[in-house]
Amino acid sequence: MESTETDVLIVGAGLTGCTLALALANTSLDVMVLERGRPIRPPALNDPVCAGAALTGVVPGRIIALNRQSLEALARIGVPSESYPHFPFHRICAVDGCGSGRFSVAASELGLDTLGSIVHADAPVAAMQAQLRDASSVEIRFEAEVSSLDDAAESTSVTLSDGSCVDAKLVVAADGGQSTVRTMAGIQQLGWTYSQQAIVCNAQCALPHGCDASQVFLDTGPVALLPLSSGDQSLVSVVWSHNDADALCALTDDEFCAALTEATEARYGEVIAVTPRLSFPLLQHQALGYVRKHLVLLGDAAHTIHPLAGQGANLGIADALTLAQELGTCRYSGQLPGDIRLLRGYERRRMPINVGVAALMEGFYRLFGSSHILPLWIRSRGMSELARVAGIRKLIGQLATGTWSFDQDELVRLRGDNLHSQDESDV
Ligand SMILES: Cc1cc2nc3c(=O)[nH]c(=O)nc-3n(C[C@H](O)[C@H](O)[C@H](O)COP(=O)(O)OP(=O)(O)OC[C@H]3O[C@@H](n4cnc5c(N)ncnc54)[C@H](O)[C@@H]3O)c2cc1C
Repeated sequence: MESTETDVLIVGAGLTGCTLALALANTSLDVMVLERGRPIRPPALNDPVCAGAALTGVVPGRIIALNRQSLEALARIGVPSESYPHFPFHRICAVDGCGSGRFSVAASELGLDTLGSIVHADAPVAAMQAQLRDASSVEIRFEAEVSSLDDAAESTSVTLSDGSCVDAKLVVAADGGQSTVRTMAGIQQLGWTYSQQAIVCNAQCALPHGCDASQVFLDTGPVALLPLSSGDQSLVSVVWSHNDADALCALTDDEFCAALTEATEARYGEVIAVTPRLSFPLLQHQALGYVRKHLVLLGDAAHTIHPLAGQGANLGIADALTLAQELGTCRYSGQLPGDIRLLRGYERRRMPINVGVAALMEGFYRLFGSSHILPLWIRSRGMSELARVAGIRKLIGQLATGTWSFDQDELVRLRGDNLHSQDESDV
């Protein structure tokens, strides 16, 4: 059977795997990406049917919020947001649905025009996969499923389900929350499921959303309304985490619209129509280590968090760029990409942030999921009091834009180095 060698083998061409592959494109490293699925087709989010002209009968995909930092980072690696459908949000609003607490931060307070954009999860991935197919320095293979892993002294060898092998100095597990590579590598994880599921659909409301990304916290779970059209329109994506999701899914469309209107306190007026609902199990896990010799975990393969603050993909993108920076140092240090000291640098930089965000999400989940009097009082008073503290507003604004999570200047340096190294090889 065929056997190939590469420097960096990325398993999984989702958001994080593709981000790493593009960040490493044109470096001196050979990069190969293996994806078990077929190429993602760009979702037609701008299609009038999908955008709400005829909501009934349309199955929406998963919609995610990418923060400003992630959008800028993707643009720097060659995937500007203009290359896929996206809907900017200018303000985040949190409302305590069981009390009187309110909190909001606008982009203008931070001197920005937007805080981020709402995108179909497949949209940037489709754009990145298309770029990778055209990139001469990266090989991407579809319908290529990794089925086993073997350690050698200087490399790790993976076998695909068709029996072919790839020998890599570094294997990157970017194969999602159910990562087979993580399991095969024997890396343990700490995790738990929530007694909730996320129900996802699109909804047409009576009033314009004004480009707000809103979240109403209820004791049955949070419900997010994310803008899916320009500010004077009223199509939103709904992510409703609920502890009785089956009952909500069993409602007729009219009953669901009424329940959503009530749960969101008619934030954008009455909910008029909804698309069919999809449901996703909610779980939280953290790998106990992100690295071992010749192998590293990235994105959801390393951590999965509750989507209540929309951070999972953003953290995965920051993971990928941090790893790319660490690998970029191979050129100067003479280290091999699978060198454990180099990989530990990535783990040291990313693990505290990822664990910290997961802990914060867990704290929110517990604080808002309780109907006891003390948490009720803390969140009602706390949200309103905190909303007046400029430092806290700024901190939450930074969390929303992602500016605390990753140093863009480092990426500029990495890209500069890459272009420089390409110039040298051109000479
Ligand atoms: C309801 C919901 C709402 C969310 N909302 C947000 C949000 O608003 N903002 C945000 O930042 N995040 C959000 N997230 C999280 C976000 O979707 C994930 O964190 C992100 O998509 C993970 O990307 P990934 O590339 O790490 O993994 P994945 O997207 O799972 O990609 C893994 C890839 O690996 C491939 N693969 C798997 N096994 C193999 C194998 N053995 N061989 C080859 N290929 C393989 C898969 O086919 C897949 O393409 C949300 C999640 C949920 C469930």
